[in-house]
Amino acid sequence: MFTRLYIHIPFCLHKCPYCAFISQEGSPARREAYVELLQAEMRLAHAGIPSGRPLESVYFGGGTPSLLEPDQIGRILSLADTLFSLLPHAEITLEANPGTIDRAKLAGFRHSGVNRLSLGVQSLDDRMLASLGRIHSAAQAEQAVKAARATGFANIGIDLIHALPGQTMEMWRHDLERALDLAPEHLSVYGLTIEEGTPFAQRYTHDRDLPDEDLSADMFLAADDLLGAAGYEHYEIANYALPGFRSRHNSGYWRRDGYLGLGAGAHSFLRGTGHGLRFANSSDVDEYAAAITRGQLPRQEMTEISDDDALAEFMFLGLRMLDGVTFSDFRREFGMEMKERFGKELEELTGLGLLAMDDRGVHLTRRGMLLSNQVFTRFLE
Ligand code: SF4
Repeated sequence: MFTRLYIHIPFCLHKCPYCAFISQEGSPARREAYVELLQAEMRLAHAGIPSGRPLESVYFGGGTPSLLEPDQIGRILSLADTLFSLLPHAEITLEANPGTIDRAKLAGFRHSGVNRLSLGVQSLDDRMLASLGRIHSAAQAEQAVKAARATGFANIGIDLIHALPGQTMEMWRHDLERALDLAPEHLSVYGLTIEEGTPFAQRYTHDRDLPDEDLSADMFLAADDLLGAAGYEHYEIANYALPGFRSRHNSGYWRRDGYLGLGAGAHSFLRGTGHGLRFANSSDVDEYAAAITRGQLPRQEMTEISDDDALAEFMFLGLRMLDGVTFSDFRREFGMEMKERFGKELEELTGLGLLAMDDRGVHLTRRGMLLSNQVFTRFLE
């Protein structure tokens, strides 16, 4: 049914003005109450799911999971191991905000079983960090990476954002170079998107306030060149890794592995008969808490994946990975040929230079990466 566990921690010290994730400020007492709810939800979920294969990965996302204490992370992991069984080398990732960690806390997380750290650095330029409303400086982010290294983390990821208001190409290159100096095993590189309902959406109402599309595309390509030259594999549109350090958990999403999401707003995808079942937990923390307290799972939007949805998902999720999708995997999953179902789309997109095809399968070209939404929507029509 699932081999991956996602755990959402919806608390932050302070809400960043560009952020649309489910997060709010929460006192230590509220965070402890939430950890207990997560454990109760895990027990309820376990009771309704037949025993399956052990967990290959656990991912603490948020929000700011590093606001939790190492002991709280340890209790959640220990229960997950008891109920679902963790593989001995399971990948256990914790998203961390550099403004919430020190060496002692990092050592505690490592001791609790976390073996991969994903640091929300976003920029290594203090002017950009201030405009993003981040609670940390560039120096603090660098110290966080060094402290993580010193406490034994051998798998560290850094997130960076480009196309920020006021950011020039020179500033972006500088961010990338400073990030490379820290020698992380993994880098995630996102373009800023202005999300509806955020303070940024009110502040930046004109396109002229932001880097234009050409500069944004050039920033994406500059990252591709610089990180490629430094030995990082560009393995997903926004993700780079040294050999052997691709995110196993996130790769599972793009391959349509089953995962169980726990916590407010967490999404799940359970494989079983048919093409699988997707659902989401209530994103309102109080509503989530009330359901768990009543002994009910707060699941909403249950959707049995139809044949058409599964075919489209296979293509637009799989094509996010630069290895692309193979004809043999498609045949195994659907019992038909990819060209039989998507011949017209494949011909059109390869003709436009957005996809490339070989004997094995299809993958995005460099141009296709820049126009990936245009590619993906073709499989949804
Ligand atoms: S720390 Fe991350 S999750 Fe929290 S408000 Fe900022 S961007 Fe959003």
